[in-house]
Amino acid sequence: MKDSEMRRVTAICNGTVIDHIPGGKSLQVLRMLKLDSGRSNPISLVMNVPSDKLGRKDVLKIEDRELVQEELDRLAIIASEASIAIIRNYSVAEKRKIILSDELVNIIKCSFSNCITQNEREPLPNKMVVVDKNPVEIRCFYCGKIQDVTEITEHII
Ligand SMILES: [Zn+2]
Repeated sequence: MKDSEMRRVTAICNGTVIDHIPGGKSLQVLRMLKLDSGRSNPISLVMNVPSDKLGRKDVLKIEDRELVQEELDRLAIIASEASIAIIRNYSVAEKRKIILSDELVNIIKCSFSNCITQNEREPLPNKMVVVDKNPVEIRCFYCGKIQDVTEITEHII
């Protein structure tokens, strides 16, 4: 990371840094991680920083919280290029990769209102099948409806 980039946001002592989020998508990332409520830990957000790789990128720094792999993998749907660093005592303790699995269970609700998963009397696990990874295309395991990835954060569980 360049010096000028480092100075853009104060370094955090402990927590998680999510770098290389496609420009403007950091709010979606926060929703995906369920960190968009008033009860979350302190978060620094930088939007639309010039990036060689992405053109424009966002960076998130979440204090005092180490995101676990299961949480990170949710991001694969909207920000598969993101890179994750776990920070301990101001230095990078671990780097984590985001992995998009072939199936997403109980992460997203099917957006089709007639889907059998919407039947309250017989609740079924919400299961999505990843049909394509680049660009991401997912469909409901039960009704087969392709989900709108741009609106996916509206349907997270
Ligand atoms: Zn469905």
